[in-house]
Amino acid sequence: MSNTEVLSLFPETAASLGGRLSIGGVAASELAATYGTPLLVYDEATIRSSARAYRAAAPNVHIHFGSKAFPNVEVLRILREEGIGADVASLGELAFAQRAGYTGAEIVVHGNNKSDAELAAAAAVGALVAIDSLEELDRAKAAGIERGILRITPGIDADTHEAIRTAHHGSKFGVPPEVALDAIRHAPWLEGLHTHIGSQLFDAGAALMTADWIAAFAARARTETGWTPKTIDIGGGLGVATAPEDPRPSIHDFAGQVAAELERAWAEHGLPPVAVMMEPGRSLVGRAGVTLYSVGTVKQAADGTTYVAVDGGMSDNPRRALYQARYTAVLADRVDDETVGRFTVAGKHCESGDVLIDRVELPEPHRGDVLAVPATGAYTLSMASNYNALLRPAAVLVADGHARLIRRRETLDDLFALES
Ligand SMILES: *Cc1c(COP(=O)(O)O)cnc(C)c1O
Repeated sequence: MSNTEVLSLFPETAASLGGRLSIGGVAASELAATYGTPLLVYDEATIRSSARAYRAAAPNVHIHFGSKAFPNVEVLRILREEGIGADVASLGELAFAQRAGYTGAEIVVHGNNKSDAELAAAAAVGALVAIDSLEELDRAKAAGIERGILRITPGIDADTHEAIRTAHHGSKFGVPPEVALDAIRHAPWLEGLHTHIGSQLFDAGAALMTADWIAAFAARARTETGWTPKTIDIGGGLGVATAPEDPRPSIHDFAGQVAAELERAWAEHGLPPVAVMMEPGRSLVGRAGVTLYSVGTVKQAADGTTYVAVDGGMSDNPRRALYQARYTAVLADRVDDETVGRFTVAGKHCESGDVLIDRVELPEPHRGDVLAVPATGAYTLSMASNYNALLRPAAVLVADGHARLIRRRETLDDLFALES
């Protein structure tokens, strides 16, 4: 595995300067020294260029950020500046979007079990709401929701981990096609349809099938009920490479192909023009984020495994434990050094499953080395916990040789603030 291969998983501005990893023009080990570890480092240039890639590939499509990937006020502000809307699924995510300046017209509200308070909040801001069930239709109407799209499960098995597959028969999300027809007859005020087939997709195959499927369904709904969707939200799902062997999915190809296929299928069925939305989460922020850890204990187990233990783990990145996500890493100040063997990177939690990387080749790691794990900008800090009463990490944004804190590290006082 060559350096360039590994470096290509890092943000666009990442480089080895004399063997020292730099991101956004700042040395990673300096960031670790200044802000402490574990630390999430976000590269502003990569966030902006990912947003621009979507906008350029699909200029007529409204792009909304699946904010659960990393709900952070500053990152949301940046995405809003780039013309990206916000997709939220709780009062908390809605509050983050509003804090970042989003207004109702720029927000889509999701959730398979929206509370009355969530529906009321969505109505109060005038957000578009993805209705998830027949019973929610009436509750949404009663709550004063004026703009709704119906979430459908087409029965398409996305080629991804079962925990992040969302449109198969039996999914807890949305309604099956037959129920959707009933819903449309019952609520012709619905403005359109929504579907999201899953996450961490490495090619456009399933998304293209979904585009065809939704056009065919729209045509069927038009014939059987006389109703025609004005809006189609085709969801998110594009993956991010996290390990050297992963394919490198292209935002430009994915968004361009899906938008073109939808347009083609729409025309084929003779349907009137439709507003199209996409909701990428991971692909907007995943590559932009790098986690820095400090190396602690290095030791060999009886089976020959050499463990490199770091000062975080499943509390700041539960993705290997949840989805068998694979990652890689470099020693931030010895990027160009020869590797000496294979190591297993473990966290510091009281669980044997608290492993971040099963196998990674590294130069000899020592206590105090900074370990940098690329492609950890999505679904890491947003899924973080205080397991073992660990304090959740800080996040900094880097650009043009400068860093600034966009989320401070938790303190023990933060933990005690919840106790009575
Ligand atoms: C999670 C989610 C997204 C974003 O998914 P990614 O895989 O991060 O792109 C979009 N829409 C809905 C409804 C979601 O639940």
